[in-house]
Amino acid sequence: MLLAIILLAQFIFHQELQPLPHLEITEADIISVLAEYDVVHENGQLFCQQFYGATNFSTKTIALCAKNDSSQQQQTLLHEVVHVLYWRKGIDTGGPYDAAVDAKSKELFQRYFGIPKTATVEAVKDTIPVNATPPTQETAPQN
Ligand SMILES: [Zn+2]
Repeated sequence: MLLAIILLAQFIFHQELQPLPHLEITEADIISVLAEYDVVHENGQLFCQQFYGATNFSTKTIALCAKNDSSQQQQTLLHEVVHVLYWRKGIDTGGPYDAAVDAKSKELFQRYFGIPKTATVEAVKDTIPVNATPPTQETAPQN
């Protein structure tokens, strides 16, 4: 009996974490969360030592640590918004799912605040000096 319990416990704890279902997130989704939830800024040492941000689904409050810089707060806000969007679908993304939520929020942060790929290409082009020597031309072999 004890062995059965131990095996059952091992089975439960070693079960693979199911991946989060894909969720397409639009600007409208983000705005709808921000219209529904209060965003508050926490200055408390205790809060900021423990969290970048936290969401309370029952009071519909998203708290951000105000001591972080604005870009960290923006990323944290997106992270909390992702939690809310999954929560609306009936999926609790607490605990082990936090890393997946974080990856999703980083994707969103890159989408809205990151360097666009085309701009990167232009920036690279701009580094080529204008008066650069043209590549040496092959000379035709002389007979
Ligand atoms: Zn989280």
